[in-house]
Amino acid sequence: MSAHHSFELTGTAVLPNAGQMLDQICEHFVEHAEVERTADLALLTSKLGTARIRLLDRTLLIDLAAPTETALQVAQNSIAEHMFYFAQDEALDLTWSRTGSPGKLRNFHQAVVVGAQDITPHMRRVRVFCEDVAPFVGGDMHVRVLVPPKGRSPLWPGYRGDGRIAWPQGDDALLVRPYTIRAVDIERRELWIDVFQHPAPGITTPVADFARDAQSGDVVALLGPGSGGLPKARSILMIGDESALPAIARIAAEVEAGTEIRAIIEVLDAGEEQPLPSAAKLDVRWLHRRSYHEAGAGSLLEEARTAIEATDGSTFIWAACEKDDVRAIRSQLKERGHDKKNMYVAWYWETFRPTA
Ligand SMILES: Cc1cc2nc3c(=O)[nH]c(=O)nc-3n(C[C@H](O)[C@H](O)[C@H](O)COP(=O)(O)OP(=O)(O)OC[C@H]3O[C@@H](n4cnc5c(N)ncnc54)[C@H](O)[C@@H]3O)c2cc1C
Repeated sequence: MSAHHSFELTGTAVLPNAGQMLDQICEHFVEHAEVERTADLALLTSKLGTARIRLLDRTLLIDLAAPTETALQVAQNSIAEHMFYFAQDEALDLTWSRTGSPGKLRNFHQAVVVGAQDITPHMRRVRVFCEDVAPFVGGDMHVRVLVPPKGRSPLWPGYRGDGRIAWPQGDDALLVRPYTIRAVDIERRELWIDVFQHPAPGITTPVADFARDAQSGDVVALLGPGSGGLPKARSILMIGDESALPAIARIAAEVEAGTEIRAIIEVLDAGEEQPLPSAAKLDVRWLHRRSYHEAGAGSLLEEARTAIEATDGSTFIWAACEKDDVRAIRSQLKERGHDKKNMYVAWYWETFRPTA
C-alpha cells in the first residue's frame, strides 16, 4: 500500500471467476488510471489514490489507499459499482473493512436553480447555486445530475454495505443523468449546465424537460465531479455532437495557449453552432445532421474516420457522441493501436430503438 496516502480501506470480493474480473477491471481502468499488472496482482494508481488488487483462487483482495476520506469513498464506490456491473448475473459477495459513512455521499452537492435561459434554440443553460464550488474548478468536469420528483421533498442517496450507492426507490426515485459542468462562476458560487433539448418524438426526455421548465428555487443535487479531465497534449482531435458541446467548449476554454485543437462537431443546424473562445489554435468544422432517428443520417462518423487517419499516435483523441458511433470510433482506434492513455472515447447517449 502507498506510503503517501493516509486513508485506507480493505475489501474482499468472492466470485466464481475472480481472474476474469481482474482482467476486466484492468482493461476498463486503463483509460482512467496507471495500471500495472502481473499474473495475480494489479496496481491501479490515479489522483484518487491506489488500488492494489490481489487474486487468490475465487477471491480478490482489495487494498485502497487515498489522500482524503472523500477520495477513498469515491474509489471504493467506483470499484464496487464496476465489479457488480462486470459480474452481471454472477454471484458476487463484496465486503469491506468498513462501509461508507451513513448519510449523504461524500461527493454529493445540493444545489438550487438560480436561472435558466436558451443559449441557442435547442441548448438550455441551467445555472445552479452551490455552497462549495471549489471541487468543480479545473480537473474533472462531469457530474451526475439528480432531480427529485416534482412536489416532494428530496430523499438523497446513501451507501450500501457493499460500497454501491443506495438509491431512493418508488415515489422518491430520482432522475439521474450524467452532464458536464460547462463553467464555474466562483464569485457567485454558480455552476452552469448546458442541457440539449434533444428531439425524441413520442419518447419522454425527463431531464431535458426538467431543464426546459426549470424555475429559480428548484432543488437538485450533483454527484461529482468525476471523470472527464482536461486532456494533456499539444495536439487534440475532438469529435462530438450537442451532448459533447459543453465539454468541448470547456476544454477549448481551459487548455494551455498554443495547444492545437481540431474539432469536428455535429449539430442540428447553423442555429446550434456556438462561439468557442479559446487560447488554443482552434480549427472547428461544424456539421449539420439530417436526422437523429435514422442510423447513419449524420456525417460525423465519416469525417471522424478521415480525421483520425490523419493523426499520429501523439494526438489526444477525444470523442463523445451516440453509442454506435462511439463503437465505430473505438474499433478504428483499436485497429490502429492508438494508446488508450491518449484518448477519451465515451458514448453520451443512445438512439432509442423500440423493442418489437
Ligand atoms: C459524461 C457525460 C456528459 C454529458 N454531458 C452532457 C451535457 O453537458 N449536455 C447535454 O445535453 N447532454 C450531456 N450528456 C448526455 C445526456 O446525459 C443524455 O442526453 C441524457 O440521456 C438526457 O436525459 P433525458 O432524461 O433528457 O433523456 P433520456 O430519458 O435519457 O433519453 C430519452 C431518449 O432521448 C434520446 N436522446 C437522449 N439524449 C439525446 C441526445 N443528446 N441527442 C439526441 N437524442 C437523445 C434517446 O433516443 C433516448 O432514448 C452527457 C452524457 C455523458 C455520459
